[in-house]
Amino acid sequence: MSELPSTARVVIIGGGAVGASSLYHLAKAGWTDCILLEKNELTAGSTWHAAGNVPTFSSSWSLMNMQRYSAGLYRGLGAEVDYPMNYHVTGSVRLGHSRERLQEFKRVVGMGRYQGMELDILSPSEIKSRYPFAETHDLTGALYDPNDGDIDPAQLTQALAKGARDMGAKVVRFCPVTSVRRENDEWVIVTPKGEVRCEYVVNAAGYYAREVGKMFGRDVPMMVMSHQYMLFDTIPELEAWSKEAGHKLPLLRDVDSSYYLRQEKYGMNLGPYEKNCKAHWVTKDDPMPEDFSFQLFPDDLERLEWYLNDAIERVPILGTAGLSKMINGPIPYAPDGNPLIGPMPGVPNAFEACVFTFGICQAGGAGKVLAEWVMHGETEWDMWSCDPRRYTNYTDPQYCIDKGMEIYGHEYAMHFPKHYWPAGRDRKHSAIHDRIKALGAQFKAYNGWERAMWYAKPGDDTSEAATQTWNRNGPWSPRIEAECLAVRDTAGILDLPGFSRFRVKGPGATEWLKGLITGRVPKPGRIGLAYFSDDKGRIVTEMSVMMLDEDFFFLITAAAAQWHDLEWLTKHMPANAAFTIDDVTEQFSCQILTGPNARAILAEVTDADLMKPWLTHQSCQIAGIWLQLVRVSFAGELGWELHTKVEDTPAAFDAVWAAGQKHGLTPFGMEALDSLRIEKGYRAWKGDLSTDYTILQGGLDRFVDWSKPSFKGKPALEREKQQGVTKRFVTLVVDASDRDAPYMSTLWHGDEVVGETTSGNWGYRIGKSVALGMLRADLAVPGTEIEVEIFGDKHRAVVQEDKPLFDPDNERLRA
Ligand SMILES: Cc1cc2nc3c(=O)[nH]c(=O)nc-3n(C[C@H](O)[C@H](O)[C@H](O)COP(=O)(O)OP(=O)(O)OC[C@H]3O[C@@H](n4cnc5c(N)ncnc54)[C@H](O)[C@@H]3O)c2cc1C
Repeated sequence: MSELPSTARVVIIGGGAVGASSLYHLAKAGWTDCILLEKNELTAGSTWHAAGNVPTFSSSWSLMNMQRYSAGLYRGLGAEVDYPMNYHVTGSVRLGHSRERLQEFKRVVGMGRYQGMELDILSPSEIKSRYPFAETHDLTGALYDPNDGDIDPAQLTQALAKGARDMGAKVVRFCPVTSVRRENDEWVIVTPKGEVRCEYVVNAAGYYAREVGKMFGRDVPMMVMSHQYMLFDTIPELEAWSKEAGHKLPLLRDVDSSYYLRQEKYGMNLGPYEKNCKAHWVTKDDPMPEDFSFQLFPDDLERLEWYLNDAIERVPILGTAGLSKMINGPIPYAPDGNPLIGPMPGVPNAFEACVFTFGICQAGGAGKVLAEWVMHGETEWDMWSCDPRRYTNYTDPQYCIDKGMEIYGHEYAMHFPKHYWPAGRDRKHSAIHDRIKALGAQFKAYNGWERAMWYAKPGDDTSEAATQTWNRNGPWSPRIEAECLAVRDTAGILDLPGFSRFRVKGPGATEWLKGLITGRVPKPGRIGLAYFSDDKGRIVTEMSVMMLDEDFFFLITAAAAQWHDLEWLTKHMPANAAFTIDDVTEQFSCQILTGPNARAILAEVTDADLMKPWLTHQSCQIAGIWLQLVRVSFAGELGWELHTKVEDTPAAFDAVWAAGQKHGLTPFGMEALDSLRIEKGYRAWKGDLSTDYTILQGGLDRFVDWSKPSFKGKPALEREKQQGVTKRFVTLVVDASDRDAPYMSTLWHGDEVVGETTSGNWGYRIGKSVALGMLRADLAVPGTEIEVEIFGDKHRAVVQEDKPLFDPDNERLRA
């Protein structure tokens, strides 16, 4: 039994594939004074019974990045750490039943190519040549991934642990962490074997992560599903084929039927994600046991019957095989199915690397990302998709259960842009939710807040079925167009609850902000955009600074950024700060009133000075209540934001709505806003603005005040300025057909890949398809013709002037 050291720099709680990979990556980076504590034997959680599939496929750029990295790591790991490793790279065939599925595949092929992976599309006859046992008559094609494979999860974990140990890190088994406490800015980790003091701690406890989180006062947003696979005996035909071919069959994923089928020796392994799925440990009569090490749930074949029959129809030789074994184990789910990797919200020097549903194929990349978080407080790739702070206070247990069941039952579903998933909804309502609902609002949740996406008219098809398309047009498009044109021609009002808002007040606040943002702090009475850079000059976030008085201002930011941005601010407060930062998001609400008639509407309900210029704000009254009137418009028209106390919002809305009727006031939603903003080249957070890009690459030079003696990121940005940026933010007008460019579409110049899109949409005011993106700097010249690959097809695109496409001189905004 290993002895428990009394101190360490980092303690990792949990010895599954992810904890072991985290330890390995820390040690490899030179942080060898790290300990992994495992309550049982390594792999005792989900890892020991995992099927071990290692796909690289993902429709998410960051998850694909992690999986691609894992596959690369696993190829050389056995030799590197001198540990036997069963890793078979067999390739995989992912079947498509529909045109939309093939479009999804083509998009992923483009992303994969950009990441250096040669994915390919197969026709039904080509499927046969890769997978002779499959029935293909009803298929539209397939995606072939030569990098897909399978690994023995226990060997993988042991190899990572051995590698870490060999470098000096420690693994202590049979050592459950029972509590933690904070003492003198250190963590004290308590176990039956004694205590360890450490600087950093990582929750890598897999499906026990919620229990471990509680020790830190953290409610980890997760739930646990039962997940099964079936192992079948040797199939003589498969054995004969395999022996002759000299290799295994590629893994088959029938994603539209929702299962994978893998050759296991000369038999098969069938693993469905069934719609009639089952959660565990979510009700009082099924409590989570204190210890479930190396245990399984009872087999539940009934749930899998449909999938088994479907798989037999697809691969008839499976019907001849005897079922030899079933595995039914616990698998944790976060509400969106992505893991939690990054800072533990609100808890100092504590991190999470837990709640993995694909923790074998992601362990390699996750270890790298986690180690970067711990060592540097930032990661090489933008990892917002896995950042624990993407969830805030609305993720109660029922929410997690509803979303987990939804995700599991649709594990391979296509995520269409106009489909707003129905589970876990109505967590947070705007004060005028019922009013806008009555106007036809179709809702989607942002950080738990229900916002109108578009407004349907009676008779519009608002069914889920209608949204199953990648195409721009559908029942929503005439409505979105009308909303955009109303904003252009008369006026529109958009309800925007949950805009994150921090009140900063007290001596030194302005000076502090000056040192943190790249640009100027606006004067009292004014509002301006501020960009926050990290030490590498990369874009951390964007906030509006509403200056009320010297040392008193509000910072307003995206709904989703609430915990992320608050943490960035508080982390950078001086230790002896005389000012305070308060999250007042839930106290206020906001409406955007914008369009050429906005002034006339407001003039009827307020005596505010409506000639105050763009980027100013003032307190005023509407319907006898106070509000802050802010002269900005993300839609790029004459307009104001009406910031009200939540309880006053209905009265303000009613007054404006009534006054607006004769001025053509129309409600508009987030879909229209996205179209309007893209025509203005306004960036969206975590699409166009992310840590994948620097402030200068992002084309935000005009928000940099080089005359300031210092600000965070200045040295890196100065270096970059001197050396010249390698890629540049551009606006493109695209000769698109039915679909606009989604996030991370490849940009081509001849046969060369020269950049990627960060967002795309149809601009209804200009009648063109617009994409924002990052392009190799020498090509970022107005008039340059390039091509954008949209769902596999290349479309001509032209680089635009560095000005808005609509109202280039902002005359309408300033009117
Ligand atoms: C049937 C099935 C098949 C699967 N197939 C695949 C697949 O093919 N590919 C894939 O990528 N993923 C697959 N998965 C998912 C995969 O198993 C998990 O995502 C992965 O194992 C998670 O690894 P982990 O290290 O995060 O967690 P775990 O392996 O669960 O490890 C967490 C560890 O923390 C320890 N621990 C908990 N509490 C404490 C404490 N208080 N103190 C100390 N230690 C503690 C536990 O004992 C455990 O060993 C499958 C899952 C199931 C159920």
